[in-house]
Amino acid sequence: MTEKMLKFVTVGLQTPNKRKVNSRVDDFKEIYDEFIHDKAKEQSSRCSQCGVPFCQVHCPLHNNIPDWLKLTAEGRLQEASELAHSTNNMPEVCGRICPQDRLCEGNCVIEQSGHGTVTIGSVEKYITDTAWEKGWIKPIKIKKEINQSIGIVGAGPAGLACAEELRKLGYKVTIYDRYDRAGGLLIYGIPNFKLEKFVVERRTKLLKESGIEFKQNIEIGKNLSLEELKKRHDAILIATGVYKPKEINLEGHNLKNIFPAMEFLTASNRKGLGDKVKDFDNGTLNAENKNVVVIGGGDTAMDCVRTAVRQNAKSVKCLYRRDKVNMPGSAREVYNAEEEGVEFIWLSNPKKFLGSEKIKSVLVEKMQLQGLDSSGRKKPVPVANSDFEIKADIAIKALGFDPEDLPKLFNNSKLTVSKWGTIKINLKSMETDIPGIFAAGDIVRGASLVVWAIRDGREAALSIKKYLENQQANKTKAA
Ligand SMILES: Cc1cc2nc3c(=O)[nH]c(=O)nc-3n(C[C@H](O)[C@H](O)[C@H](O)COP(=O)(O)OP(=O)(O)OC[C@H]3O[C@@H](n4cnc5c(N)ncnc54)[C@H](O)[C@@H]3O)c2cc1C
Ligand code: SF4
Repeated sequence: MTEKMLKFVTVGLQTPNKRKVNSRVDDFKEIYDEFIHDKAKEQSSRCSQCGVPFCQVHCPLHNNIPDWLKLTAEGRLQEASELAHSTNNMPEVCGRICPQDRLCEGNCVIEQSGHGTVTIGSVEKYITDTAWEKGWIKPIKIKKEINQSIGIVGAGPAGLACAEELRKLGYKVTIYDRYDRAGGLLIYGIPNFKLEKFVVERRTKLLKESGIEFKQNIEIGKNLSLEELKKRHDAILIATGVYKPKEINLEGHNLKNIFPAMEFLTASNRKGLGDKVKDFDNGTLNAENKNVVVIGGGDTAMDCVRTAVRQNAKSVKCLYRRDKVNMPGSAREVYNAEEEGVEFIWLSNPKKFLGSEKIKSVLVEKMQLQGLDSSGRKKPVPVANSDFEIKADIAIKALGFDPEDLPKLFNNSKLTVSKWGTIKINLKSMETDIPGIFAAGDIVRGASLVVWAIRDGREAALSIKKYLENQQANKTKAA
């Protein structure tokens, strides 16, 4: 294979450069090369326009993929960008971080016939990045202002997508968020090497320039009540995401240097954004020269191991109680982590954190898979007398997230939740049990994906529009 071809394959599949775990950060050439123009065209022209667009069906936004691939192949990038934006509020974000192997690309007909998928995500990123560079993406121009307002709680992808759609229609929109920056998990959860922060910031800047008001550092339920919010706005969207880390209550869990994943990732993202982070600067949350053990097998665990690699950890190990085939995370993420030198210890379960004051090691038992659990997945059971120890200077718990107790936080028992704590909505209207209050994103679905949050935000906007039109019609009738 020629060097040119190799680069093509590497770029197309978004494969990272190989790197030793303990090589210096300065030596680290960032993982994704530019998806160069002619390669995007070449990839786009591989689309067979098969007439059965499984890629489109399996994209949660039903993006018109075959058409924007065709436009790209013809060099009509501005039109391709407009088409991509007609169904997606952040195509450049999805192009970067959707698990395409499970969505559009995994269902590409060319992939199914064994010839390798068209790299849809990379083309989507390329189209939109080009549109930004060329200045084709402009703030929303409102044809007619509507004198009704919507308060959105949460500036993650669900809240942002809903805000943009409502603003396009002319409504006044205010977004409240407890963080100091907008973007939700796009800004403080997902690492910079997967999603560069300027990509998120230029989107939120555009929304501000479009007339959407952002109120940061305001936590609903603490700084402002839901009741007060209802008085201020004609409709409300709750898009607060899920943030309560799932716990493992093992012996030794109180030892120092055992962190929840979000604490570790947020510190790293804040550093990347130029913030002073005391616990990073004093070394506590910095993996440099340390033996790091990450517990969990999902995408958050993959983000932690790959962040630790980039912080020049001495060793990075990932403990997962099932095997590779049964791992919940994206296969591509696992592949990337392995390439970067992360050691996976499959079929292993932490039993105890060991150390005095600070963690020194994790006691682990071997597992085997037997039968199926209640969710239909293979059930891990311990292997007798199989304990072993793994050295750890830092342990990171990445076992997933549950919703916070929103009825309690919002002091409103009328806000009903499912047995998992997610907000209950009418699936058609996305309205909660409180009239005029809608909900979208992870707080409804449980921990999910950005692309689903965007879809929910868009659908909520349509329902809110209908609700507000009815309210207006009723007022007019009554007058
Ligand atoms: C580490 C990590 C990596 C991930 N990687 C990927 C990936 O690669 N690809 C992918 O598709 N998905 C990924 N996800 C999932 C994805 O980030 C989420 O599904 C998505 O962000 C959910 O969007 P959301 O708008 O519902 O919530 P969020 O993005 O969580 O945003 C919710 C916002 O609400 C705010 N908020 C919460 N409570 C309040 C309150 N009371 N008052 C005011 N504001 C409040 C929060 O501050 C936050 O800004 C990842 C998740 C994590 C944790
Ligand atoms: S939004 Fe995600 S699933 Fe849809 S086409 Fe883009 S990368 Fe694929």
